[in-house]
Amino acid sequence: MYNTKAYSAASATSPLAATTIPRREPTDRDVQIEILFCGICHSDLHAVRNEWSSIMPTTYPIVPGHEIVGRATKVGSAVIKFKPGDLAAVGCLVDSDGTCPNCKAGLEQFCANLTLTFNSPDKHLGGVTYGGYSASMVVDEGFVLRVPSNLALAGAAPLLCAGITTYSPMRHWRVTTGKKVGVVGLGGLGHMAVKFAHALGAHVVVFTTSPSKKEDALRLGADEVVVSRHTGEMRKHVGSFDFILDAVSAEHDINPYINLLGRDGNLTLVGAPAKPLGVSAFALIMARRNLSGSNIGGIAETQEMLDFCGAHNITADVEVIPIQKVNEAYDRLLKSEVKYRFSIDMASLKSA
Ligand SMILES: [Zn+2]
Ligand SMILES: [Zn+2]
Repeated sequence: MYNTKAYSAASATSPLAATTIPRREPTDRDVQIEILFCGICHSDLHAVRNEWSSIMPTTYPIVPGHEIVGRATKVGSAVIKFKPGDLAAVGCLVDSDGTCPNCKAGLEQFCANLTLTFNSPDKHLGGVTYGGYSASMVVDEGFVLRVPSNLALAGAAPLLCAGITTYSPMRHWRVTTGKKVGVVGLGGLGHMAVKFAHALGAHVVVFTTSPSKKEDALRLGADEVVVSRHTGEMRKHVGSFDFILDAVSAEHDINPYINLLGRDGNLTLVGAPAKPLGVSAFALIMARRNLSGSNIGGIAETQEMLDFCGAHNITADVEVIPIQKVNEAYDRLLKSEVKYRFSIDMASLKSA
């Protein structure tokens, strides 16, 4: 065991503050990583404030962060994919049982025995796992991703959650050249969805409540922008979409979007409103439309996504902050005052 610097919250109402946490010595299969950047995901904030207490209560102190890029500093004797000095990334998962049907299908994110990057029981040290708001971490090689060398690291960090969360359903529902794809909500997830849909060759339409986002949506790769309050604008698109990704986590009516789908079209939810959504059965029945959900992606697909980003030079649009500004960043995140993801420069932790 060794100690490393980190930022943690002591309770649901405490700000994040500098601390020291233990990490295991790398085993034969482990990669020790010096963390260079960690993105701030909305899940970090939910967990820090124990807002998902009914599904996954937070154990304190919590060290959040699951959008991690860094450099391997030490590798175990059985590690084959990494050597010291290599770029390395870690997303939302650090372990799973490897034996269940989901794991065998490469869908570790659905494993009943998965270990999340933070706030999951830690099989090695006891207590819970600590995430990426820290200087160093140790992860089983099977859950460490390779980072294409052409990607800017600050913007690459959010690919590990916001990126895979939007990439995976598009691959599953076969978004490709010639398809018409909608993106609802232009935030951390939505802006990545626009980039991916564009790079996959789709005709991309962004739905937004704020006309002020139009220019930005076009810059990110949208072909059209529809202000969702304008029913006339919405009506023009009825029955025409192959796929719509809904990244809105606030309460909202999804039926107008279901009606925009063509026959066999799919609306996938990646935002998670706390209250159940009302769905018109008619809207689904009349055109054999699909409504589904998606949650991050498996390890192999996450690697595929990173390689795709390398080939297309895709990263998140980030505002880089020192860790000392993390509490301020949380407040701004709640007001959607970030374009489009915060990325923490972990070098700042050295002076914490
Ligand atoms: Zn996340
Ligand atoms: Zn499993």
